[in-house]
Amino acid sequence: MKKVIFGLAVGFAGVSGMAQTAVNRHVVVLHAARMLDVAGGKMVVPGEILVDGERIVAAGTHVDRPAGAEVIDLGDTTLLPGLIDAHVHLFLHVGAEDMQTVKESVPERTLIAAGAAKADLMAGFTAERDMGSEGAGCADVAVRNAINTGLIPGPRMRMSCNAIDLTGGHEDAIDYNPAQKILSNADYADTAEEVVKVMREQRKGGADFTKIYETGRDSYRDGVFHSMYQYTEAELAAAIKEAERTGGGAGSGRGVAVHATGEPGTGYAVAAGVASVDHAYQLSDATMRAMKEKQIYAVPTFAIAEYFADHAATPERAERGRAEQKFHAAEFKKQLAAGVPMAMGSDVGPFPHGTQSRELELMVQYGMSPAAALQADLLNGAKLLGWGGQIGELKQGYFADVIAVPGDPTQDISVLKKVGFVMKNGQVYKRP
Ligand SMILES: [Zn+2]
Repeated sequence: MKKVIFGLAVGFAGVSGMAQTAVNRHVVVLHAARMLDVAGGKMVVPGEILVDGERIVAAGTHVDRPAGAEVIDLGDTTLLPGLIDAHVHLFLHVGAEDMQTVKESVPERTLIAAGAAKADLMAGFTAERDMGSEGAGCADVAVRNAINTGLIPGPRMRMSCNAIDLTGGHEDAIDYNPAQKILSNADYADTAEEVVKVMREQRKGGADFTKIYETGRDSYRDGVFHSMYQYTEAELAAAIKEAERTGGGAGSGRGVAVHATGEPGTGYAVAAGVASVDHAYQLSDATMRAMKEKQIYAVPTFAIAEYFADHAATPERAERGRAEQKFHAAEFKKQLAAGVPMAMGSDVGPFPHGTQSRELELMVQYGMSPAAALQADLLNGAKLLGWGGQIGELKQGYFADVIAVPGDPTQDISVLKKVGFVMKNGQVYKRP
């Protein structure tokens, strides 16, 4: 109803050519001491944004203040675009990652996922890509739709339904008695034909994109990383062809993303033309070159690895986790030097929703400048999710997804933990 009134008001003002007023319209002016110029990696001082409905009308050091506009003065803070997390699991929460998918019903998990979406939004994440509902099928589509219709608060979402995996593969219930028929957290597909069939079923269920487990269990021993591939390059190519058939080209947010930790699976995925390689602990020189050339993003997911090491069941497992993270951090430096484009993805879910800005701190700790980490999050994240040119910057015509933090995130990335203001689509969800 509100939408209709807003639409009419805009139409009337446009037709009449009269000076537009903010009556009956949601026009907001945001003012703060600073504003992030994302692409330039620098501060605009002071920062102001004029928001009309769901879009940014103007942004700079000074914007017009239309009569009747609500002016929100955020004081000594920095305005920046809403953060983007390219690897989340709304359908996972802290606790035994595997047993929750066995014990909790899909309706129960869906309600919990709605809470996770809210927690992420309130922490400043206004756009996310959900990398698998982990056995909840296309229930994630219901969450996305409820967010989009305003029923529940949450980020703009790209959903994949379940991930796709082999029989006995990475996400299958391989530690359980097969006779008990414990279900995989993913959808089974063992051939190219089966992958395409599952993709079609997921699209019918409302999926935006496809997640495939390209590597199975891996191990790190004596400084050597071992990773087992799951699908051949030809099988992945069939998946990508199917995604492209339904509009899943580069930058569409509708392609194929893989869980892939190392070679040869990472190389197969890149050769086939995936949108992103998530985890990416180890990439060969040839794979890194191809990722730079094709602009395929690596999504490091350091935060989940840190959390698992910090919460390991035994000191030995904690130590192994830390050694693996150290190895990944060294590989990450090589990837940066090779020009592999990065996107930010935390793998939040098994660790608490709303705490995933930790991932940006770790990207900085392991070698990126704060400005470069923010560009990876915002510019690359927007493109990876298929919203390039619409989110990730504070520019005229972009969606009004805006947050505010104290301090200067290009000097101290940890201020992203203290998001005090959240606007998504022009609507204020959190204010000081
Ligand atoms: Zn994940």
